[in-house]
Amino acid sequence: MPDRQPFPPDFLDSVRAIVGERGLLTDPSSVAPYLEDWRRLYKGSSQAVIRPANTAELAAVVRLCAQSRTPIVPQGGNTSMVGGAVPNEDSSEVVISTSRLLRIRDLDEVDMTLTIEAGVTLKAAQMAAAERGCLLPLSISSEGSAQIGGVLAVNAGGNNTVRYGNARDLVLGLEVVLPDGSIWNGLRRLRKDNTGYCLRQLFVGAEGTLGIITAAVLKLVPQPKEVAVALCAVGSPEAAIGLFKRFQMSDASSLNAFELMTGLGIRFVLKHIPDTLMPVETQTPYYVLVEMTTTRPEAGLRLLLEKTLEQAMEDGIVADAVIAESDAQRAAIWKLREEHSEAQKREGASIKNDVSVPISKIPAFIQEAAQACEALMPGIRAVPFGHIGDGNIHFNLEQPVDCDGAWFLAQGEAVMDTVNEVVRRFDGSFSAEHGIGRLKPHMLEEWRGGAELALMKQIKAAIDPAGIMNPGKVLP
Ligand SMILES: Cc1cc2nc3c(=O)[nH]c(=O)nc-3n(C[C@H](O)[C@H](O)[C@H](O)COP(=O)(O)OP(=O)(O)OC[C@H]3O[C@@H](n4cnc5c(N)ncnc54)[C@H](O)[C@@H]3O)c2cc1C
Repeated sequence: MPDRQPFPPDFLDSVRAIVGERGLLTDPSSVAPYLEDWRRLYKGSSQAVIRPANTAELAAVVRLCAQSRTPIVPQGGNTSMVGGAVPNEDSSEVVISTSRLLRIRDLDEVDMTLTIEAGVTLKAAQMAAAERGCLLPLSISSEGSAQIGGVLAVNAGGNNTVRYGNARDLVLGLEVVLPDGSIWNGLRRLRKDNTGYCLRQLFVGAEGTLGIITAAVLKLVPQPKEVAVALCAVGSPEAAIGLFKRFQMSDASSLNAFELMTGLGIRFVLKHIPDTLMPVETQTPYYVLVEMTTTRPEAGLRLLLEKTLEQAMEDGIVADAVIAESDAQRAAIWKLREEHSEAQKREGASIKNDVSVPISKIPAFIQEAAQACEALMPGIRAVPFGHIGDGNIHFNLEQPVDCDGAWFLAQGEAVMDTVNEVVRRFDGSFSAEHGIGRLKPHMLEEWRGGAELALMKQIKAAIDPAGIMNPGKVLP
């Protein structure tokens, strides 16, 4: 890669004058962790990682970048699955990390809102809400590292979308540093506010291409009083969807998560992740994790769960099931699901497809996509899992046993095309919750071309005319 000096000579000195020594990393070993994505698909290069301590500092740095036309890569927890938060390879970009924007500015138990800075991890935000008897109803497996800014920038979905929607549905207000370095303070906490275009929703899901989110007002809900979790063995995705329908009919408002896993995916977790245990003895090709919660005291949720499962067993939909009897058992069941990505990483090379189809089409989609991949590459191991209660399947494919991992990854395009061909037949989306990042801009052209993409490009040109915000991501 060319090792060119892209910045004006005094650029880094000017940055240092704004953020101080603590806010500027230039030593290659300190910069290195910010340059590679979680999946290790990309290894970028940059001479500087800038870590402002507050919104004013961040805005001043962006102003400096705008003056010198220095491209910026915003970065939160760097857990993007699509390489969205790493710079390119030619050292021309700076990384602006939000990891020092750590203040919880306000929690209001009447408004049920949390006003929080972008660098707080999702887990820390959940804990701050829990301390005051509230729940931030967004949960993703990477929540210990993913930061609020990143979560909003990609419109993360996760386990509770079935009940509370995506990150987008939880945002009432935003504070954003725009590409010219000005600050838009839209930190309103209003449930009703029809005053022109809804600007905050432009920045949610824009993956850092329109500005840097520095703080947000998020909706909270009351902490649940009762939680019931079960792991159910089912013979097929049809049975899983049948069970979903039953839970919806019995008490849709309590259904908090409905997750599909395969027997193979669980075996990978048991093999690679310490302290994991399979509580269900009956072996079936698929398993469902169902979580119900309620704020109603003594609502009898466990009984409802038990009855629904008993009936489903009588009707041959469920082969076996275990209901968690303690917090520890609940956590153990959830661990089987949450460690799926990590276990697949340790098993070998895997190609990920974060797709969605209408819920009713999930069984046919899984069957046809698995067949198509097997026809493309005999021995490829399909490990679909995910949030089927909202139609989102991570249709991941593990390399055939004994095949070369690098060779397998080189087939990524062909494998993704094969899966997407089936997604298209079922009117689905090629990116349900992970976004576009650096991995999929060419697909955006193919899937959202015409008026839709033209409009996106006009919005980008209007807000970031110099194109310095996360270039090469999202838009082709
Ligand atoms: C093990 C694992 C499990 C995951 N599970 C889920 C899941 O269930 N659901 C889900 O939706 N995702 C999931 N993800 C993907 C990822 O964790 C989420 O996309 C997460 O929301 C990203 O947050 P982050 O802080 O790490 O963002 P980063 O990876 O740092 O950045 C993501 C994108 O947002 C931009 N960005 C970051 N911060 C800001 C900001 N403050 N302002 C503007 N742009 C910004 C970056 O430039 C980049 O384009 C998972 C990832 C892993 C590794």
